[in-house]
Amino acid sequence: MSTAIFFNIPAHGHTNPTLPIMAELVKRGERIIYYSTEEFRATIEYTGASFRCYRDTIPNNVAQDKNITRQIYQSIQTSQIMLPHLVADVQKIKPDYIIHDSFCPWGKYVAQITRTPAISSSTMFVFTPQLARSVIATSLKHFWMDIAALREKKLSYAIAAQLNKEYGIPRPDIFDIVTNREALNIVYTSQQFQPFAHLLDESFKFVGPSIYERPGTPTISVEQLAGDTPLIYIALGTLFNEQLDFYRLCCQAFANAPLRVVLAIGNRIAPDQLGELPSNILVWNVVPQLTLLQHADVFITHAGMNSANEALYYGVPMLALPQAGDQPWVAHRIEQLGAGKVLHRRTLSAKKLRRSVEELLANPSYTQASAAIGTTLREAGGYQRAVEEIMAFKHLYVNNSVVAEPARQQNIHP
Ligand code: UDP
Repeated sequence: MSTAIFFNIPAHGHTNPTLPIMAELVKRGERIIYYSTEEFRATIEYTGASFRCYRDTIPNNVAQDKNITRQIYQSIQTSQIMLPHLVADVQKIKPDYIIHDSFCPWGKYVAQITRTPAISSSTMFVFTPQLARSVIATSLKHFWMDIAALREKKLSYAIAAQLNKEYGIPRPDIFDIVTNREALNIVYTSQQFQPFAHLLDESFKFVGPSIYERPGTPTISVEQLAGDTPLIYIALGTLFNEQLDFYRLCCQAFANAPLRVVLAIGNRIAPDQLGELPSNILVWNVVPQLTLLQHADVFITHAGMNSANEALYYGVPMLALPQAGDQPWVAHRIEQLGAGKVLHRRTLSAKKLRRSVEELLANPSYTQASAAIGTTLREAGGYQRAVEEIMAFKHLYVNNSVVAEPARQQNIHP
């Protein structure tokens, strides 16, 4: 039996894919200590892992600022605040290995300081300079967002210099503060969906999404989803889902259409805020998304990485309405591979939304492209493969004491 510590950020999208991995590791006799915040205690403990709450507060911006560079700054700033406590904890627990979310620089830094072998868990695309450049090139908005965050970029480097002085941590560049590469990097998509995958080395293992029975999610019976008309599923994930105006627009677009609509509005809005609705529109706070996707003909999504992978896994074409963080990259990739279309909130109307759904329904190429990527995701091996990779890593770096070298910078800089 070995002891492992998992460091995550408090976000469902970053936590969900890791849960069946933790359950399987515990089943195989590993002792897992999982750091997150109280909100996630129950789901983490359900896997058999021991929950630990971070002693320092993680600012919401770490996962929720609309500007990715600001998120990066928040995450390195948070690392600096948390390091003294976490280093002390790790020195006391003496884990055999550490697993950390790719958005947790503190996990990587603690591992470096305590010389513990470490694995990175990436629920996002691996962020490379090529990907950043390609996204900035897609819109003026992203160009200006990048310029607006120059100050945060400078501040991030200043903290990196301080950490280097204080702990001897090698100075990361902006891309490594967001990817935190290790000798093993588990990525929850397929090589085919990851942009510029050919530039990434063997340490990146693309295992696909974690598809499993999720405890605690509400159930919807197959009978409730049965019907002859196409089923449109609409959800904006768990972070940026407080969008009453958008939900109203959806109701306007699809009221009394020959379509069935399931609208998941999240927990921050009450269904009655949408007023009286026609019988073809069902509104829920939270739905079992994996069940919905097995019946949906079109998914209207914010293009969160998990949502996109799950939809592709089930071959569902998407209308992507990206809003923040990595969503524009995911949305762009969906469109690039022909699995859907990107829509922009600023120019969206009920008419345009309805027409776009009709276009996806009328043209089977979108479903075919989604299903083709879905095949690569199914073949990637899922959480079972992730567990095998972790075991192989453990065998090499823990049992045989090979020194783990994080994937080197030049591997992703051509
Ligand atoms: N989800 C769900 N039911 C809902 C809305 C979301 O089960 O009603 C799950 C979804 O399956 C996905 C996660 O929540 O696994 C959302 O992650 P994603 O990366 O798509 O978006 P985020 O919430 O991080 O913006």
